[in-house]
Amino acid sequence: MCAKATASKMNEASVEDKLEALYSLQIIDSQIDKINFIKGELPMEVQDMEDEMAGLMTRKGNLDAELAEVEEGIADRQRIKEETKLLIQKLEKQQNSVKNNREFESISKEIELAKLEIELCEKKLKDFTEKKTSFKSRCDEVDSAIAGKEDELKVKQEELKVIESETDTELAKLKKESEEAKSLVDERLLSGYNRIRKTYRNGLAIVTIDRDSCGGCYAKIPPQKQLEIKQRKKVLVCENCGRIFVYSKEKEIEDLNKPVEEAPKVTRSRSKRARQD
Ligand SMILES: [Zn+2]
Repeated sequence: MCAKATASKMNEASVEDKLEALYSLQIIDSQIDKINFIKGELPMEVQDMEDEMAGLMTRKGNLDAELAEVEEGIADRQRIKEETKLLIQKLEKQQNSVKNNREFESISKEIELAKLEIELCEKKLKDFTEKKTSFKSRCDEVDSAIAGKEDELKVKQEELKVIESETDTELAKLKKESEEAKSLVDERLLSGYNRIRKTYRNGLAIVTIDRDSCGGCYAKIPPQKQLEIKQRKKVLVCENCGRIFVYSKEKEIEDLNKPVEEAPKVTRSRSKRARQD
């Protein structure tokens, strides 16, 4: 009988120890979550801004390429225009030394065509110049957008660097502690813990009783269940959210040191008054 009692006591202690180890892990992991939460927005913000910057750079690259094409077009047309002008001069000279009317007429036609070519060049040059102006103003817009974002991005990147330099050491330390704490946790409980942690955004898998309710979802816990949780003989989970309950030693000490409940005080003062009366 004595041996049986010892065995069962060892068993009880074992569940209690398992839960206590799991609770220690939760406390460490919650600290990690908290740091990641504080950092949370900034890395994403920086990433978004970097993406935006990359987009602006691509736009700038495209505009530059289009602008270069337009400039090439302008140079081409100007060259053709000059060449055609020279051709006209040459043809006019030829016209002076023609032998008959037919030759004269033929050269006149060529000159006419060359003049049309010049007109066409001038029209194209006007179009290209308009395009160039529009591309240039769009380039300027993108340039000023880049310049504006560049400073903002630098500030945010610097801010992130500072936060990371402050938190990286702490995070590394906590992650090591978490690994150590994990090695002490029962394997089956650990896989349950990991699963529950993934389910909830606040990463809480192990909860205490908080004002007769689940510390995770605030569902009321029946008194009988609260008693069982406090006995630490079984692994009990919240029926509403599935989180694992723990009655930590800390909480037990806290409960033991709680001031005397209101109700008995009232009774005592009443009875005192009753006696005085
Ligand atoms: Zn719950």
